[in-house]
Amino acid sequence: MKLELTLNAKPPMVTRSIAQCHSQDWRTELAQAFTRVPDLLAFLHLRADQIADLDPGPGPFRLLVPRGFAALMTPGDPQDPLLRQVLPRRDERLDCPGFSRDPVGDGPAVCVPGLLRKYAGRALLIAHGACAVHCRYCFRRHFPYAELGPHRARIAAAIDQIQTDHSLSEVILSGGDPLLLSDDALAALLARLAAIPHLRRLRLHTRLPTVLPARVTEALCALLTGLRLTPVLVVHVNHAAELGAGARAALRRLHAGGITLLNQSVLLRGVNDTADALSALSERLFDCAVLPYYLHQLDLVHGAAHFEVTDGDAGALMERLRARLPGYLVPRLVREVAGAPCKVPVAFRGSLTDPVRR
Ligand SMILES: *Cc1c(COP(=O)(O)O)cnc(C)c1O
Ligand code: SF4
Repeated sequence: MKLELTLNAKPPMVTRSIAQCHSQDWRTELAQAFTRVPDLLAFLHLRADQIADLDPGPGPFRLLVPRGFAALMTPGDPQDPLLRQVLPRRDERLDCPGFSRDPVGDGPAVCVPGLLRKYAGRALLIAHGACAVHCRYCFRRHFPYAELGPHRARIAAAIDQIQTDHSLSEVILSGGDPLLLSDDALAALLARLAAIPHLRRLRLHTRLPTVLPARVTEALCALLTGLRLTPVLVVHVNHAAELGAGARAALRRLHAGGITLLNQSVLLRGVNDTADALSALSERLFDCAVLPYYLHQLDLVHGAAHFEVTDGDAGALMERLRARLPGYLVPRLVREVAGAPCKVPVAFRGSLTDPVRR
């Protein structure tokens, strides 16, 4: 009898823990992300003194790197392009001329808290304030989420605003990362948006398919493809090495559901500022069913000056890419200009060696 009880007790426990494990997979992974510089360095077999200008204790914009993303870095390489995107440096604290805390004019574009109107026909809803990774070049690293970011009442007000503005045909969910919302919260938000007759498309801007691929569950795919709105998903990949097996499977899953997949990158010194790196990225994206869309010139955000590439160098890179790749694998080189009605193409003026900054 005792034996039978034990045997009976076991299967439900096992089943429950597998089910829990499955449903909490991406949350568990996020909870286990690296948040301390020494832990990340130890994982990569690096010593602090191998990294120039390391800031071991960054301020409010702390280190945050999921373990799966760290596993794509090359152990022992202090110049790794993925590591460079996430590792805090002391010169982030410097005040550099021309670099500000709101470089793209998000502040004035906030029409109700959480909703940004900058472009015709499209509105951007800040659906979640947090991210799964902290990118050192992020233009929203100083965004006052507490004042202008999302919470339930604000999202309701933002949806009311979208409802009354018949010029809108597309809503862009951004953040932070909108895919950090739970399936339930996302489903509720999407249902409300889908009920607004003048909307046709739903766009999500997210880094999760690559930094936390476990988030892309079958349930999420079903949620995104089961809408009246046509879904477009814009991922944010800067280097081919970010597209590991997990990301590739996640992206192929989304593609199989009929979701249009696009990528935007930021041109970053020391990360992807060579023709080799950019063409490898485009090729690898296409292997993952993603088309290159934008290559952004860096937003001049306080703390990111060490990533800047001049317009002259950027233009020269684009010429080399065009000479190497089919046109559909060449992204558009653009810059965000505060107050402009669209992204501004970066004009390539002068000779290849003439750096034009603006
Ligand atoms: C870039 C951007 C858009 C529009 O993006 P497109 O891809 O050019 O349509 C809309 N809203 C905000 C806030 C943006 O930054
Ligand atoms: S995921 Fe996007 S919003 Fe979040 S820190 Fe990185 S660049 Fe910024």
